[in-house]
Amino acid sequence: MPTQDFNIIEMSLRLLYTSATHTAQLAIAFMLLAILIKKDKVLDSFKSCSIETLRNLALMTINITLTIPLVLLVSMHLEEYKFSQSSEFLTDHFSVPVIFFIAIFFGDFVAYWRHRLEHSRFLWPSHAVHHSDTQMTWLTLERFHPINRVTSYIMDNTALLLVGFPAEAVIANNLVRHYYGYFIHADAPWTYGKFWGKIFVSPAMHQWHHAKAHSMHNKNFTTIFACIDYVFGTYSVPGNCDSKLGVSYNFKLGLLDQLANPFKPSAYKKYDKQSPSLTSNTKVT
Ligand SMILES: [Zn+2]
Ligand SMILES: [Zn+2]
Repeated sequence: MPTQDFNIIEMSLRLLYTSATHTAQLAIAFMLLAILIKKDKVLDSFKSCSIETLRNLALMTINITLTIPLVLLVSMHLEEYKFSQSSEFLTDHFSVPVIFFIAIFFGDFVAYWRHRLEHSRFLWPSHAVHHSDTQMTWLTLERFHPINRVTSYIMDNTALLLVGFPAEAVIANNLVRHYYGYFIHADAPWTYGKFWGKIFVSPAMHQWHHAKAHSMHNKNFTTIFACIDYVFGTYSVPGNCDSKLGVSYNFKLGLLDQLANPFKPSAYKKYDKQSPSLTSNTKVT
């Protein structure tokens, strides 16, 4: 599509309508799952996460109407410069399903290191918004600061396109990561057991990633393949997650405060309180 035909307002409205319909369908599926898991406590559970859910939906709306259309606009410019050239080696040697699997595994490997970078001093103030949900649900996947959305999109997709994966495989990686991402953020008490839990990321594994407990900071970075965390020594799943969730220091939860967080110099200093294991001379009580 030529860039001059791109109407960003029309695109925003279309995305908003499609996402609202799609989110309503997903909400029904995850509500049924919650009823199966929580049984007679399901209403209490819905009540306890209602405020955080509104915050998640607010950030989701901002990202759908502003961030994603801008990202699509940039992507179209990249396409004009033939940034993406499929590797002949991949298409000559592997079938389409194998290329898709490799793209998803490699995509999770790239996202593992990108996520570790988001837990560094420089990117933590925007990534902290994702971690600030104290009542994690499937909609926590939508709680990202626009800066975090853009940086993760650029890093993940640039790496895959540079390696030479076809655009279809890159899109497949994004879709699988996105939908599995909803599932691992759901409040489901599942670890997948000692063997499979080290192969695939379970909801319990990702809940531990969001734990306030200092011992769990900088653990469990992957979205799909737990084995990547296991190989690099960042895997930790001591059973179902019984820790409080959220950021370990006092983090303002108002929408404007969250949006302003990466622009506050103090947010970069607070990183020390979140990740004492990565900093020296820092005493955290
Ligand atoms: Zn994180
Ligand atoms: Zn998460």
